[in-house]
Amino acid sequence: MSDFIPVNEPLLNGNEKKYLCECIDTGWISSEGPFVKEFEKKMSASVNREYGIAVSNGTAALETAVQALGIGEGDEVIMPAFTIISCAMAVTKTGAVPVLIDSDVHTWNMKADEIEAKITDRTKAVMIVHLYGLPVEVNEILALADKYHLKVIEDAAEMHGQTYYGKPCGSFGDISIFSFYPNKHITTGEGGMVVTDSKELAERCQMIRNLCFKKDARYVHDELSDNYRFTNLQAAVGLAQLERLDEFIERKRAMGKYYTERLQEVKGLMLPVEKTEYADNIYWVYGLVLTKEIQADNRMVQKRLTEEGIGSRTFFWCMHEQPVYRRAGLFLDETYVNAEYLARKGFYIPSGLALTEAQMDRVILGVKHVMDQL
Ligand SMILES: *Cc1c(COP(=O)(O)O)cnc(C)c1O
Repeated sequence: MSDFIPVNEPLLNGNEKKYLCECIDTGWISSEGPFVKEFEKKMSASVNREYGIAVSNGTAALETAVQALGIGEGDEVIMPAFTIISCAMAVTKTGAVPVLIDSDVHTWNMKADEIEAKITDRTKAVMIVHLYGLPVEVNEILALADKYHLKVIEDAAEMHGQTYYGKPCGSFGDISIFSFYPNKHITTGEGGMVVTDSKELAERCQMIRNLCFKKDARYVHDELSDNYRFTNLQAAVGLAQLERLDEFIERKRAMGKYYTERLQEVKGLMLPVEKTEYADNIYWVYGLVLTKEIQADNRMVQKRLTEEGIGSRTFFWCMHEQPVYRRAGLFLDETYVNAEYLARKGFYIPSGLALTEAQMDRVILGVKHVMDQL
């Protein structure tokens, strides 16, 4: 279908082409190029962090952060049940175990008030994961981390430009990460970054992203990691994108408002929360959740939307329901009612930065049509 509306289309009409041409003209294309350091500096400074370590994607950033903190066998890391696999995988790869927390039905984020009951003497860290555009209740978690001497990893993959009580997401806890996948507010095609204020952690991350080469003996290894290097080509795109972050956030908020005004009368849909005491939504993507009266699940709605020429995605699938973890004997008797509901009833509609108002109008008509028929 030629006029199919994709679920995401990025906006690349700033200085991306100019900076990319500079890479090609100068021959600097690898991770050694000058844009990488410049992007690390500007991105980390934008969230008030001392150090930025650019890596190949957001998943690699999580793995780097978890390894840098020395998390391993016998440790437990508290995190939401409802999130992307990257969060749990970064933990299980080290031999540590994720301990899961249910979600809030309205903000879709991990419930901070259920964390304390899950802390044991094995708990080493809490992973904060801000989902879909609103931050987690950070202050409560930082207070717990203080009380129980826990490390805090902040997954701000979807939170470029978002703040919590005025402070930037990506500035909380020991270490934070970003993703630059094309559906994030800033993209480099593929890419990610770890940010921190600790010199020691920053140096560990630099080593981990580069095969754990030793500083003084390059091909001798005390530890194993991976090749997570980030290229000058990616950094060129990232710098051009970062120049427009404020504009992108404004645009996302305008899109959120546009959808909300026109979808609020539709029966059977819960819309994203526009604002809380601590933040205004930045709509990483525009998510919708079917209400209890609707029999259909998100997959059925997604199929119908495709027939209308509209791209969509279901929400994440819960960690405790992942076949790979069940087979390994993890989370066997666990249930998280709200997380399970979101995973079955949540989906998101086209909300990329290149989306036009005419396309949004078509999406709105399509959603109304599909909902009328359920
Ligand atoms: C996108 C995302 C990631 C993973 O980033 P990739 O760059 O796709 O590897 C991690 N956590 C969250 C919350 C994300 O949305």
